[in-house]
Amino acid sequence: MNCDRVQDAVRVLLSEIGEDPDREGLTRTPDRVAKALRFLTSGYETDVASVVNDALFTVDYSEMVIVKDIDFYSLCEHHLLPFFGKCHVAYIPRDKVIGLSKIPRLVEVFSRRLQVQERLTNQIAATLRSTLNPLGVGIVMEATHLCMLMRGVEKQNSFAVTSAMLGSFRSDARTRLEFLELLKQRGHMRMALDPASTGYVNHEE
Ligand SMILES: [Zn+2]
Repeated sequence: MNCDRVQDAVRVLLSEIGEDPDREGLTRTPDRVAKALRFLTSGYETDVASVVNDALFTVDYSEMVIVKDIDFYSLCEHHLLPFFGKCHVAYIPRDKVIGLSKIPRLVEVFSRRLQVQERLTNQIAATLRSTLNPLGVGIVMEATHLCMLMRGVEKQNSFAVTSAMLGSFRSDARTRLEFLELLKQRGHMRMALDPASTGYVNHEE
């Protein structure tokens, strides 16, 4: 990222919305926005393989591994406004597990890019599948979208739940339900988790 060019662009933006980029409160804003953007999109510069590959361990069990309530913050690619919430990750190992601390890190790497919630969910699932070759992977993400809330459109749809179910989580209803029940019982989910009712809210307009 060329910070000088980003700062110039922010100055243009400030002028076009009717502000004076040179007034006292705004003089350092272009610099701050550039730094914030660089941080919030730092996932583009992170090599996913380097995050996961040194933390794989061989195991001889195949019990479900679950990491719940991973906080994430991302930017919607349609409006560059935040969406944020909780990510719940589960997988059933075939012969490999990944260090537990690497799962939130993986969520973070994909969150710090311009995203739509559905793709973010699928990227986390696909990475765990290709890295671990597990028997199955289940991801549920629940998020509030500020682009919906703040613009006052379809307020009732500003909260979205997405899921990606691969392998045994897709083919075996009992495995999927075990995961979803564990999320529901602890009161983690704000919405009913009937897989048929989960879906992505289109907010491109
Ligand atoms: Zn949006």
